[in-house]
Amino acid sequence: MLDNKQLLYKILPYGCQMNFSDGERFAGQLERMGYKPADKMEDADIIIINTCCVRENAEKKIYGKIGEIKHLKQQNPNLILGITGCMAQKDGDKIFKKAPHVDFVLGTNKMYDLPAVLEEIYTSRGHIVKLAGDYDMPPNVEPAKNDSLFAYVPIMYGCNNFCTYCIVPYVRGRERSRAPEEIVAEITKMVQSGVKEVTLLGQNVNSYGKDRNDADFADLLTMVDKIEGIERIRYMTSHPRDLTDKVIAAIKNSKHVCEHFHLPVQYGTDKMLKAMNRGYTTAYYKELIAKIRRDFPNASFTTDLIVGFPGETDEDFSQMLEFLREIRYDAAYTFVYSKRSGTPAATMKNQVPEAIKKDRLHKLMDLQNEISLEINEKLLNQTVEVMVEGPSKTDKTVYTGHTRTNKIVLWQHKDEKVGDLVKVKITHPQTWVLKGELEA
Ligand code: SF4
Repeated sequence: MLDNKQLLYKILPYGCQMNFSDGERFAGQLERMGYKPADKMEDADIIIINTCCVRENAEKKIYGKIGEIKHLKQQNPNLILGITGCMAQKDGDKIFKKAPHVDFVLGTNKMYDLPAVLEEIYTSRGHIVKLAGDYDMPPNVEPAKNDSLFAYVPIMYGCNNFCTYCIVPYVRGRERSRAPEEIVAEITKMVQSGVKEVTLLGQNVNSYGKDRNDADFADLLTMVDKIEGIERIRYMTSHPRDLTDKVIAAIKNSKHVCEHFHLPVQYGTDKMLKAMNRGYTTAYYKELIAKIRRDFPNASFTTDLIVGFPGETDEDFSQMLEFLREIRYDAAYTFVYSKRSGTPAATMKNQVPEAIKKDRLHKLMDLQNEISLEINEKLLNQTVEVMVEGPSKTDKTVYTGHTRTNKIVLWQHKDEKVGDLVKVKITHPQTWVLKGELEA
């Protein structure tokens, strides 16, 4: 509180789940300092934009947002504007040149410096920039209290993989794993305050523990599975090359780890996987999926796919469609390759023209939608277990939730409550959602 005025904060996270989780940890620090969340940006005394730099378009949008906030600073000269996250790490004090109304820039790994930075700003206003230098393991920062059923929990930071299109290893450093007992204690506290589902986060969770000698990812899953009161455990992202038999066995032996495998393949030919430096072949990947299907016949599979990567030919693309027909994912997150300066792929020859990329993207999405619908139609008249999340956005009498396999289900509300596990009989399977009836 300053002059008896309740100070308010607003955090605008961009990009991946890791950034959303970091945003909750900025919020945690601010709340421990006495700030409360603002409903609108206009009411805030501090605005933090937690940025992403995976795509150049995302950066343009973020600079647009920073520009919009200038007029708020003119109305309220005490408003503090901070830029954090990956773009902050990459651009550093260049941000002040583009936007002098920004007060501070905090790079990745520097989240815990927020209270000290604010103190400095309150005593002597001026531009402050703190960037990660060595990418040591950062001190733990507790998130703000979570009133929802869901929580993201980072289990590690950084990435060692250097996929040729990706900027993340350059802005988040090498892999560092949090101590397993710290993760378990954090999740236990969350579950005691009402969280039922956690998603363990890392750029490659399968590498968890490689820099430690007390636990690997399989051990961690087993430990989290034993937490009293936890209902569901998910994790992302899982690099296919590093998914071990031990992890698959840990999932099989667990009660709460969901039967949903998100395994980003990125492309469906060996030539393109090599150009992307993904570290596996299509044959390896297909065998991995087959192995999981033998253990989990009802599991769902999702993936990430990039079209228009440099050097992609019509022949590559048609092999990619064939690959999709063979694997049959439940869903796929499809992206058009866009140049990210600072990565090897940005200077590769044979960049694909935009019109061709767009055409391929549409063809890919059409095929995936067809496959998703066919898979979902097989669920007609089947009963699925759903965790109740509450009313849908468009109709308060219709409730929504997810299956363990991460499919969205909608049904007419009766007397079920948020957080309950209910059975729903699927009556209208569609491409993106399953509509059904609540069973008694
Ligand atoms: S695994 Fe590849 S795509 Fe994922 S964060 Fe690391 S370098 Fe980027």
